[in-house]
Amino acid sequence: MTEAKTYRNFINGEWVSSTSGKLLEDRNPADSSEIVGVFQDSTAEDVQQAVDAAREAFRKWRLTPAPKRAEYIYKVGEILIRRKEEYAREMTREMGKVLKETRGDVQEGIDIAYYTAGEGRRMFGKTVPSELHNKYAMSMRMPVGTCALITPWNFPMAIPSWKLMPALVCGNTVVLKPASDTPLSAYHLVKVCQEAGIPRGVVNLVTGSGTSVGSPLMQNSGVDLVSFTGSTDVGGKVGETAARLFKRCSLEMGGKNVIIVLDDARLDLALDGVLWGAFGTSGQRCTATSRVVVHKKVYGEFVEKLAERAKNLRVGDGLDESVEMGPLINEPAVKKIAEYVQIGRDEGASLLCGGVRLTKGEFGRGSFFAPTVFSDVEPGMRLAQEEIFGPVLSVIPCDSLDQAIEIGNGVKYGLSSAIYTQDVNKAFIAMRDLFTGIFYVNSSTIGAEVQLPFGGTKQTGNGHREAADTALDIFSEWKAVYVDFSGKLQKAQIDS
Ligand code: NAD
Repeated sequence: MTEAKTYRNFINGEWVSSTSGKLLEDRNPADSSEIVGVFQDSTAEDVQQAVDAAREAFRKWRLTPAPKRAEYIYKVGEILIRRKEEYAREMTREMGKVLKETRGDVQEGIDIAYYTAGEGRRMFGKTVPSELHNKYAMSMRMPVGTCALITPWNFPMAIPSWKLMPALVCGNTVVLKPASDTPLSAYHLVKVCQEAGIPRGVVNLVTGSGTSVGSPLMQNSGVDLVSFTGSTDVGGKVGETAARLFKRCSLEMGGKNVIIVLDDARLDLALDGVLWGAFGTSGQRCTATSRVVVHKKVYGEFVEKLAERAKNLRVGDGLDESVEMGPLINEPAVKKIAEYVQIGRDEGASLLCGGVRLTKGEFGRGSFFAPTVFSDVEPGMRLAQEEIFGPVLSVIPCDSLDQAIEIGNGVKYGLSSAIYTQDVNKAFIAMRDLFTGIFYVNSSTIGAEVQLPFGGTKQTGNGHREAADTALDIFSEWKAVYVDFSGKLQKAQIDS
């Protein structure tokens, strides 16, 4: 076996080792004997150097015209297109999801690059009439400063891209801290930024754990904005810290997403959507379908077909094109999922299929878990309330659309929801009443596109939306500008 490559931090345009002298291994969850790469186990000192570099670079970058900043971002998109297959394969090795999904992850990076670069020539402000003679009133966006980007492992290139590109086009500089399970995909993205010619110090990368890098980064006095995606538990701490230190802060957190299947739904279509939503990325998506609320008239038939199809999903190494579901991210995830299966059993839900770790043959080398379906789940059970973040689906019976919506809304999260029905009136009622940031009709809870806002309500977010033009609201400050060309003092609200 060849020796694993060592990757370094990127600070002020140089690839540098951590001051700690320590390294972290990045292992393949489909085969834990394979080390995908070795990364820097960084410290607060490394963070300080990266923040200093980003602050220095901000002085020039903010004055670079936005269309010129956008040209670098277009170049990033072009390079990503050329490297898509290579980076997708490396991503599957580092975090397990199947190749068609890792190709989609890189594609999201490409999509957001092109979409955001277009904003370099838009970033619209408003011109509005002034109430006074010979006075001009308008609004414009200005950059915030140095941004800390703290990201999770489940979309290792897409999520850093969703933050990085809008931050840059708005004129900010960044320090990226990727999840310690997926530093390689973040390294690839930053390498592409370097190749695209983005000036030194504008993009910095520091790898390491949440406590040794994430925490000092978000608290650093040189950081003006913290953009975090991850669990609601950690997001709560990030939000508290940012509030105390008066930093701008956007949080994208957990989900407990629901699909409602009504008695008039096309069941074959609904089954496709539920299986894709529940077991895509092994259920490890913030938008994963973890609850399906099914009308009692079709419940029996639906549950039977669902269990049959879930049992037959092909689990294995995501590099095999025929595999439909890859491994979990790591061993603690396997332990957590097994605990939730036990919780479900103890609560009295019926285990229809799965519920076990897979250990035979090639499975023994990785963190594999069988696709798991529980039926007869009560809406209040922990199984139906808590984010499990794995291939575990709860099926809940309902009598009516009203009841289904009440169950759908009855969790602390509000990311994504969906309804399967052929009745347009019912679809519109669900669209209006499900309190989630994303909603689908006759489609699964996963599958967001970059030109629409992405994020959720309640404990999923703190009011921001990534992607689309709404991402600009995270990464810019509004400035209201008044230009008085009357040549005299005019007082608003006082002079008529
Ligand atoms: P996590 O909260 O454990 O970690 C997220 C990031 O925060 C990582 O980089 C981690 O190192 C860092 N971190 C951990 N502790 C920290 C601390 N004390 N201070 C600063 N940083 C710290 O989440 P995860 O396991 O990587 O990702 C899974 C979670 O992310 C799920 O809850 C999922 O729903 C959520 N998620 C949300 C979205 C969304 O857009 N809403 C998208 C993807 C994932």
